Amino acid sequence: MTGLANTAPASTRKTSPPAARRGEPASSQRTNKRSSAVADATAKPTLELAEAFDQFKASLATYLKPADIQRVEAAYRFADTAHEGQARVSGEAYISHPLAVATTLAGWHLDPQALIAALLHDVMEDTAITKEQIAENFGKVAAELVDGVSKIDRIENQSFEEAQAENFRKMLLAMTRDVRVILIKLADRLHNMQTLDVMRPDKRRRIANETFDIYAPIANRLGLNSLYRELEELSFRHAFPMRYRVLAKAVKQARGNKREVVGKILESIRAALLKAEIEAEVMGREKHVFGIYCKMREKHLTFSQVLDIYGFRVVVSDKTSCYQVLGALHGLYQPVPGKFKDYIAIPKVNGYQSLHTMLIGPFGTPIEVQIRTAGMNHVAESGVASHWMYKDEQTLTQLQKSTHQWLQSLIELQASSTDNTEFLEHVKFDLFPDEVYAFTPQGKILTLPRGSTAVDFAYAVHTDIGNRCISCQINSESVPLRTELRNGDRVEITTASHAHPNPNWLTYVRTGKARAQIRHFMKSRQDDESSTLGERLLTRAIADLGHLPKDIDPVAWARFLHDTGLRGRQEVYAEIGLGLRLAPVVARRLLARDGNLQQDAKAGGSVSIRGNEGVAIKIATCCRPIPGDPIIGLIRKGQGLIVHAHNCATIGKLHGSKTEWVDVNWDPAVSGQYETYIHVVTKEARGVLAKLAAKISESESNIVNVSMNVDGDAMTSLYFTLHVTGRMHLARILRALRSLPDVVRLHRQFETRR
Ligand code: MN
Repeated sequence: MTGLANTAPASTRKTSPPAARRGEPASSQRTNKRSSAVADATAKPTLELAEAFDQFKASLATYLKPADIQRVEAAYRFADTAHEGQARVSGEAYISHPLAVATTLAGWHLDPQALIAALLHDVMEDTAITKEQIAENFGKVAAELVDGVSKIDRIENQSFEEAQAENFRKMLLAMTRDVRVILIKLADRLHNMQTLDVMRPDKRRRIANETFDIYAPIANRLGLNSLYRELEELSFRHAFPMRYRVLAKAVKQARGNKREVVGKILESIRAALLKAEIEAEVMGREKHVFGIYCKMREKHLTFSQVLDIYGFRVVVSDKTSCYQVLGALHGLYQPVPGKFKDYIAIPKVNGYQSLHTMLIGPFGTPIEVQIRTAGMNHVAESGVASHWMYKDEQTLTQLQKSTHQWLQSLIELQASSTDNTEFLEHVKFDLFPDEVYAFTPQGKILTLPRGSTAVDFAYAVHTDIGNRCISCQINSESVPLRTELRNGDRVEITTASHAHPNPNWLTYVRTGKARAQIRHFMKSRQDDESSTLGERLLTRAIADLGHLPKDIDPVAWARFLHDTGLRGRQEVYAEIGLGLRLAPVVARRLLARDGNLQQDAKAGGSVSIRGNEGVAIKIATCCRPIPGDPIIGLIRKGQGLIVHAHNCATIGKLHGSKTEWVDVNWDPAVSGQYETYIHVVTKEARGVLAKLAAKISESESNIVNVSMNVDGDAMTSLYFTLHVTGRMHLARILRALRSLPDVVRLHRQFETRR
C-alpha cells in the first residue's frame, strides 16, 4: 500500500494509539453547546454563513429547476433546525459544514436527492432525527443516502487494526449501495480536511494519514481527480506541516520567476493552433506541492529539476481536434520520444481520457501537454460524479453520450435495476471482485471469498472455533450459521466444548480451509461410526449362526487379528462397517474352532436402519428411499452401507459388480428427516408456487429445492425436493397439495430429474 507513511520517517507513522480511534468521531469537529450555552442556540446566522448560502443557491440556479431548488432549500432549513445549538470546533454554527459539503456536490452538478442528503448527512448521527422522518419529508432515496453515509460514519468510528486501511477502503466501497453515498462522504472529508487547522496537531496528523490512506485512493479510483489531488495535498500539509511550508514557499517564488516563460510558451501554442484553425482553450497547469515532493523523492530530482517542467492543458471540442492539436504542437516543438501516451484510444480504468505528450520548448525546457475534449476534461476532473450530473432527458448532450463505456454501463445498470447491488458489483469489478469483508468482535477485518458464511468466518478465525461453533450473531442479531456474510458485518461466533462439525456445513461453506477441516473431521468420525455399524453387522452375523458375541473365544479373536494383521477389534469392526470385510465371513472364522457352525449359515436376519447412523449408513441419492419404503442395503468397498429402494433403477445395473447385498429394514423407531422428490403439475396461475409452499410448510415439511418448467398448454411443472419423516408424512403432504384447485396432478418421483 502506498501511504504518506512511505514518504515519511518510520517513527512518525504511528501517530496515535489505536485506542484513540475508539468511539471518537474521526473528524466531525462537532461540539454540542446545547446544554451549556443556551444563548448560542438562538445565534443569528453569521455574515459568512449567509454568504456561503447565497453562493450555494447561485450554484443551484445554474442547473436546477425552481421546484428542485425549493426542495433543497427546505432540506437546508430542516438541517439548520436539527443542528441548532451545535457548533464546530472552530466555533462556527454546525450547519456551515453540511452546507459546504452540499456546495461541493452542487459543483459536480449532482441531483437534488444527493444535495438534500448532503445537507442532512450528519443529522442521523448527531441529532434525534430518524431515517423515517427524513423519508417522510424528503423521500426514500434521500433517506437511504443519509443512512448510507451514517453507516460509514459508524464503521469509521469503531476500532480497527492499524495497517488495515486497504481492507477498510475496499469495505467502504463494497458496502455502499449507491455511489452518491461515497460522493457525499468524500465531500464531507474534503471539508473536514479544509477546516482541520482548528484541531490539535496529533489529531490533525491522524486524520491526515487516514485521509491519505483511505479517502484519497477512493477519490482516485472513482476518477475524481481534482478532489483526489486536493485531498492528497491537504493530507501532506497536515501530516508534514514543516515540509509543506518550506516547499510551498519555494514553489511560490519559483512560479513568480517563471511567469514570463510560461506566458511566452502559451502565446506560441495559441498562435500555432490559430494557424492550424483549431479552436481550443489553452492553459498553464500548476503542480501541487505534494506532486512536486513525490517527484523529487521518486525520481531523485532536485527541486528546480522538478519545477523546470512546464505543464499545459489544451481543451478542444471534439476528439478529432485532439489529434490535430497534437500534430500542430509536434510541429511547433520537438517531441520527446517515448513520452507520448494515448489515453483516448485506451482510457485509464477510472475513465480518464486524454493525450499526453512531452515537448522540448524554447531554451530547452521540457513541456508537458495534456490534450482532451471538454467532455473528457469534465470526466477527468469529476470522474464518476460527472455521470450523476443532473440533466433533463431532452438536453442529453453529446458530451454525456460519448462518455466512456465503463462508466456509462454503470448508469444503465443503476437505472435498470431496482436492487442496486448489481450496480455496485460492477463498480467494484476490478477492485475486489470476489471478496467480502467482515469484522471480528475485536475489530479485526477478515477478507473472505464472496458467498462465505458464518462457518467460513469461524474457521478463518481459528480451526478450533470452526470445529466447535454452534451458533452466531451477526451485527448483534442471532442468525443461522449458514448465513452469507455481507460487507461490514460484525460476526460473533459462539462455541461449545462438546460441539463438532456438521456434515451439512459442506453444502454451504465457501473457503477451502473450512471444507478441508470439516472433511478431516468427518473422516475420523466416519471411522468411529463405521466401527459401530461394523459391530452391529458382526453381532447380527454371529446371531445368524446361532451365537452371541460373548460366545467367541478370545483366542479365536487373537488368531483372527494375527492372521489379518489388524490391530484390534475396533479395526475389524471398522473394516466391516466400511464394507472392506463381510460380516458373515468374519463371524464364521471367529466361530470356526468351535466346530458347531450351523449347516445353513445363510444370513437370515437384517440390519435395522434407525436413521441416526451418521455417515456410516447412507441413503442412496438415486432413489432416496424414505421410512416405509421397501429397502435393500448395498456394501461397496470403502463406502460403507448404502440403502436403496427396492425399485431403484441403479440396483439392476450393479448386479455382478463388486458389491455385496445386505438385508436391511427400517427400525420401528426410525427418526430423522429424509429427502424425497415430488413432481407437481399445475395450471399456470399467479402465485401458485407460494400456495404450494404454504401447504408444504403447513404439513410440517421443508422445501430443500425447487425447480420449475413451463410445459406449454398453460401448464407448469414444479419439481420439489422435500424433507419428510416417512411415507405417512409424504402421503399427508401429497393430500394437502392435491386439495389446491390449481394442482392438476402430482406424484412422487424416485429419481431426480435429468
Ligand atoms: Mn460530516
